[in-house]
Amino acid sequence: MTSVDDLPPLREVIRRHGLRARKSLGQNFLLDLNLTARIARAAGPLDGVDVIEIGPGPGGLTRALLAQGARRVIAVERDDRACAALEEIAARYPGRLEIVAGDALTFDPRSRLHGGPARVVANLPYNIATALLVSWLTVEPWPPWYDRLVLMFQREVAERIVAGPGSKAYGRLSVLAGWRCEARILFDVAASAFVPAPKVTSSLVSLVPRQNPLACERRTLERVAEAAFGQRRKMMRQSLKSLGTDPLPLLASAGIAPTVRAENVPVEGFVELARAFELL
Ligand code: SAM
Repeated sequence: MTSVDDLPPLREVIRRHGLRARKSLGQNFLLDLNLTARIARAAGPLDGVDVIEIGPGPGGLTRALLAQGARRVIAVERDDRACAALEEIAARYPGRLEIVAGDALTFDPRSRLHGGPARVVANLPYNIATALLVSWLTVEPWPPWYDRLVLMFQREVAERIVAGPGSKAYGRLSVLAGWRCEARILFDVAASAFVPAPKVTSSLVSLVPRQNPLACERRTLERVAEAAFGQRRKMMRQSLKSLGTDPLPLLASAGIAPTVRAENVPVEGFVELARAFELL
């Protein structure tokens, strides 16, 4: 293990703070500082950037982000044992690590930002990873307060985020992500890199906000995508009936063939559908 700083090895930190991983908190720690440094590098140059980190745990990624020059890391953690461990990192980087003891699902990072670029970089707790992503993708106003999200997901979820039409993984999450961001998988991380090892491979995903996503009402877009993918094997003329209106004129004004299935409709098609539905 290479040291990114003069702080103790993570295994020692975990032992001293009794940080035995809790499944209920989605705790799968990364203890290899080479790997956390690679993740921090993948988040791009960090000089002058405020990083929001969700679930820092014992702080392996936090340390890498600070060592690589993040202006500040605002780390939101629900586990008090981890917060105590993080205090040692805060002391090593005076004024640059803010520990927020609380629930990321109710935390609004904007309360902590004072201008300048902000980025979310996190090895997310998988039990709330999709909910957190959706909250960031649906934030208003748009463009959002962050310039990039660099997030670890289970590979199956990562594939759903970046999927395009024609793929089995393409669904509601792909439409939302593809509408507002350019999303791609950066690299996979083997289960064995985590302690304890989860059952599945993970993937690091980058999402860069589009400055001008095609205009439509976000809730309407979600509604039409939900209807279409709710019955993904059916043709759109059938699946869209759950919207409570005749799908045929809707599909006609969106320029979509009534016989096509949701998984073959590109994001632009869903935006056209949402616009047509709004005009009804
Ligand atoms: N970043 C650390 C690492 O890479 O080793 C830990 C990642 S672990 C997958 C997820 C972390 O999220 C845990 O430290 C856990 O306590 C924390 N966590 C779980 N639920 C949370 C919540 N609702 N709000 C904030 N943190 C949470």
